[in-house]
Amino acid sequence: MDMNIEEKRITEPEISVVVPFYNEEDNIEELYQRLKEVLDGLGRSYELIFVDDGSRDRTSEILQNIFKRDKRVKIVALRRNFGQTAALQAGFDEARGEIIISMDGDLQHDPADIPALLTKLEEGYDIVSGWRKRRVDNLIFRRLPSWVANRLMRWLSGVPIHDFGTTFKAYRREAIKSVQLYGELHRFIPALISRTGFRITEIPIRNVVRQKGRSKYGLGRVRRVLFDLITVKFIISFIDRPLQFFGLIGLIFAGLGFLIGLIIAIGFYFFGWSVKDNVGNLILASLLTILGVQFVMTGLLAEIVSRIYFATHRVKIYSIKKIYSHEREETQEL
Ligand code: UDP
Ligand code: MG
Repeated sequence: MDMNIEEKRITEPEISVVVPFYNEEDNIEELYQRLKEVLDGLGRSYELIFVDDGSRDRTSEILQNIFKRDKRVKIVALRRNFGQTAALQAGFDEARGEIIISMDGDLQHDPADIPALLTKLEEGYDIVSGWRKRRVDNLIFRRLPSWVANRLMRWLSGVPIHDFGTTFKAYRREAIKSVQLYGELHRFIPALISRTGFRITEIPIRNVVRQKGRSKYGLGRVRRVLFDLITVKFIISFIDRPLQFFGLIGLIFAGLGFLIGLIIAIGFYFFGWSVKDNVGNLILASLLTILGVQFVMTGLLAEIVSRIYFATHRVKIYSIKKIYSHEREETQEL
């Protein structure tokens, strides 16, 4: 019996920390040391899940080095660079802790904030999100777009937090396992999860300037985030009933078209309007009607797509090359 409990403790840690790395050779060792210090101080069982997102520098080598030294480390090596969202999802899929923490691997997130995240989570929340209250990023390229995006997100999702953009968060396992990420959606996890009714809150975290290596993002992120924002709004509100959304637009257009057509028809038959004078209006009426029908059709297609979406929730957005784990017989070549 005791043996079983002991065994369970080894295989199922209380806390999993998930960190994606893409060309972070200069940051890994220090982050690992600082994580270890903070987590050892908690006196709770934990595992570190380091995802190598197809790095081309010495990241892989350094990670393996740490893996050899520490039984609590697991490495998920992806076949190529899949992006931060996919790397995080790969890590979440491997994580088995009751509590799962995600953070960046570039030392912009301070492990010293972890205890505060945990304390807040234990007050009865399902997600505690980090809030970079005093941001150090560039004003024009980072803070301004992010301010707009955060406002929009707060408004569209109804989740009352300030900082959707940071990955430094603590989750109860059920909460994070309830979503499957794709695109750039890791920024919208709270919004996506809010659909399911989990309790979300935030606490201020430190925000420090990146010292080593460089940011993997440029201005292109603004456009991608914008489109994901639309996707997220759509998912939150209409994924299980897209026809309600497209159908309504379709009905409005088709209704307008029908009305104009009707007026013209009445004009022709009862008031002797000439066809020649009304060519423009006729075209408008038919265009609106066609547009309306198209929207309804799109809605029906979206209904089918969303059925498929729900049916294929298990599709993976990444591909693993190898998992280094101390629990399995040997490291897995996939
Ligand atoms: N990252 C990743 N794959 C990528 C891009 C980034 O795993 O394709 C990781 C990166 O190594 C870091 C985290 O995601 O640990 C955040 O990236 P970055 O610091 O470049 O983002 P920023 O802080 O500039 O928003
Ligand atoms: Mg960073």
